[in-house]
Amino acid sequence: MPGIYLHIPFCDTKCIYCDFYSITNHSRKDEFLSAIKKEIVSRSIQLKDRKFDTIFLGGGTPSLLSYAELNSLFEILYKNYNISGSSEITMEANPGTLDKDKLKEFRSLPVNRLSFGVQSFIDMELQFLTRIHNAQTARDSISEAQNAGFDNINLDLIFALPGQSMDNWKYNLDEALKLGTKHISAYSLIFEKGTVLYTMRNKGEVKNADIELEQQMYEYTMQFLEDNGYMQYEISNYAEPGYECRHNLKYWTLEEYIAFGPSASSYIEGQRWTNSKNIGRYIELIESGKPAYDFIETIDEQTSVTEHIMLGLRSRGIYFDDFKSKHNIDFPEKYAKAVNTLLENNWAESDTEKLKLTRKGYAVCDEIVTTLF
Ligand code: SF4
Repeated sequence: MPGIYLHIPFCDTKCIYCDFYSITNHSRKDEFLSAIKKEIVSRSIQLKDRKFDTIFLGGGTPSLLSYAELNSLFEILYKNYNISGSSEITMEANPGTLDKDKLKEFRSLPVNRLSFGVQSFIDMELQFLTRIHNAQTARDSISEAQNAGFDNINLDLIFALPGQSMDNWKYNLDEALKLGTKHISAYSLIFEKGTVLYTMRNKGEVKNADIELEQQMYEYTMQFLEDNGYMQYEISNYAEPGYECRHNLKYWTLEEYIAFGPSASSYIEGQRWTNSKNIGRYIELIESGKPAYDFIETIDEQTSVTEHIMLGLRSRGIYFDDFKSKHNIDFPEKYAKAVNTLLENNWAESDTEKLKLTRKGYAVCDEIVTTLF
């Protein structure tokens, strides 16, 4: 079944490493809410025969919206789309934007999964990343969410910060574990072009982490989380069994998703489009009755095969039956040489059903995909 994504672009401040479309000027929030509702309604006829089983509110910081604002978005969604009663409904939240009362209110929304942008449990690291919260606020927000009845919680962490020691990274993982969330995402810091962090590196103000240390941190993370009951189901994502993010799995298994809001990307009927990354233009396009995208492409068969291999290897593996039914290709036969190289190097494991990277393979995933496929 396909999924639905809503992009809420507002943040309190802009973090130095962030390349998502997010803005700190909230003056057009009401116009944005009116526009996104119109966009939701405008696509509903095309999608009337589909049933959806995930909704993901990302951003930006969706938890900055009020209960009434969020509720009105859900009302429009449920009125216009066929949404399964057992849907996974995630909202991204930032520590420091939620208190007990707000969390209590949010429990009466359809939201049943929260994803917290924690990033670190060390105040100095949080200050470097220009996050608005400190370590204690992060701990409190997650405990309060659990006390309010949210059982399915993810927390995001970032490693390989400039100057970060292995001990600090181990401390972050230990602290995350203590909170008992069902899901942990652990990403290495990327110096994305156009971010403040990227400029800082160009000016020589910061340096990338040592590549070997970064590798050790990644390997430690995989082993540590597995030893503590989390299953790695994507290069950066770990979950207790049954708590994998069903919405993100759709991106990695090339299922369809419809997305609303500025910068949001959709994939429907073999076409992928990305909405304008400018709130003013987004509102203007919607208000003049036009599609909100700046860019649309048809995914041809070769691209689809390449994406299937790349995304499959990064996540739960390539299932041969699924590959055959989508592309009419016998995967083990067509890619026999590449598969042998993966198995010989202990980069992957295979059975009659699937090919899946090992931890050793995840650690060199990008190189493998580029060279072998
Ligand atoms: S809170 Fe998240 S979306 Fe907002 S600026 Fe920071 S990293 Fe970007």
